[in-house]
Formats: sequence, C-alpha cells, structure tokens
Amino acid sequence: MCATCGCGDTHHHHETSEHHHDHGPHGLHDHAAEVRRIRLERDVLEKNDRFAQENRAWLLRRKVVAINLMSAPGSGKTTLLESVLRAAGGRVQISVLEGDQETERDAERIRKAGGRAVQINTGTGCHLDAHAVGHALTLLDPPPRSVVVVENVGNLVCPALFDLGEHTKMTLISVTEGDDKPLKYPHMFRASDVMVVTKIDLLPHVDFDVDACVARAREVSPDLKVFTLSARSGQGLAGFCDFLFTRSAEA
Ligand code: MG
Repeated sequence: MCATCGCGDTHHHHETSEHHHDHGPHGLHDHAAEVRRIRLERDVLEKNDRFAQENRAWLLRRKVVAINLMSAPGSGKTTLLESVLRAAGGRVQISVLEGDQETERDAERIRKAGGRAVQINTGTGCHLDAHAVGHALTLLDPPPRSVVVVENVGNLVCPALFDLGEHTKMTLISVTEGDDKPLKYPHMFRASDVMVVTKIDLLPHVDFDVDACVARAREVSPDLKVFTLSARSGQGLAGFCDFLFTRSAEA
C-alpha cells in the first residue's frame, strides 16, 4: 500500500467514500479524515526512514554502493542495466534488486546478462520501500566493493518519497517521453542526483529536445549530473559506465 498517493490502498478508497457520505456542513469530517491521512503518511515515511538508516549502515559495513534507479515504466531501466553488465565484463561486480509488481522477468534478464539479481514483487504497490529492500539485500549478499543497483518500480511519483538507504538516486528519461517531464514531476528530479537521458538513437524520429529537457531538469535541481546515452547503440555508454564503476571505489 502507498499511504502517500493511495494507489492500491483500499483504506484510501474507504476514506473517499466516507468523504462523500457524511461530510458535515462545515467540512469538519473532511478535516478529521485529512488529519488521519496525513498522520498515516507521516508514520509510513518515518518507519521507512528507520529501515533506510539500517540499510545504509549495512551497506557501509559491507563497503557496497547502492544506486536507486527510477523512471516511468518503459524508459529502459533493465535494458540499460543489461548493457552496463556486458560493458563491465567483470571489472566491477554489479548486482541488481529488481522491483516490479509481478513476474521474475527482469531478474531473469539480468542473470542472462551475467549479473546477480533478486526480484521483489510489490503486488499492488507502486514503489519499493526500505524494509523490502533490506530483506532482499540479505538474499542478494553483494560482495565488498561492489555496486548494487535497485531498479525501482516504474513510476515517477511515489519512489521519490521513499529513502531506501541508497547513496545515489538516479532517474532515467527516454526520448520517447515528453521533454517537459522534469517540470511535471519535479519531486522525482529534485530528489535525484543523476539524470540519464536514454534511447538517444531514436532522436531523429521524435520531437524530444535534449537541451530543453536538461535545462528544465536543472530548473528544479541545479546540481543534477546528466548523462545522455543509448543502451542500444552504445553511444555515451562508456562515460556512464566509468561514473558507475568508480562509485564502487567510493564505498
Ligand atoms: Mg525493468
């Protein structure tokens, strides 16, 4: 369940129906429901932050760097990771926590590309939380001085709110999406340290303006580090891999 946006959360729908049935003449009931909702959100996020702190300490003890990879569905997170794994060629150990609502498909793709992977299925959930990631990290058992990439559930909204204990938050945007997305989903881009513009091999076929996208992203997050690349053609991939691989030395 996600107390913050309410998607997949039956409690939220219950409150919505209450709202319609018996809100008082002065909206007092609305106010009480709103206070309850805010308290629930705060409790969920506080609990998450405690688990995130535990994850951070666990990663530090292990000397493992964790990256939280986020994007809308279909931006190419798994495809990028497959290319990175092939480029790594054993130079750096990279393992992956895969977050999807259902199936083991992405974990299987990562294993086929030579990486270790543990799949987390969130069911109706729209994001990974620190508690689930903590359990999955134990299963994944990443070696010291390695990189763990957490591929979050495809969603540009809720994952921005949930600290997983990672070192770097990275958001992908593909050129088949709108170049105004950083302005429409500012929380995600503001929370991120790195933005990756992907699928640039498709630029001749779409109206995506890379410079405008980067300018808009820096409007909401001035210090954002930006990479532009194509996992398919390999353009820009080496620079991105260098950045990723040197992170493992920083653990
Ligand atoms: Mg995926």
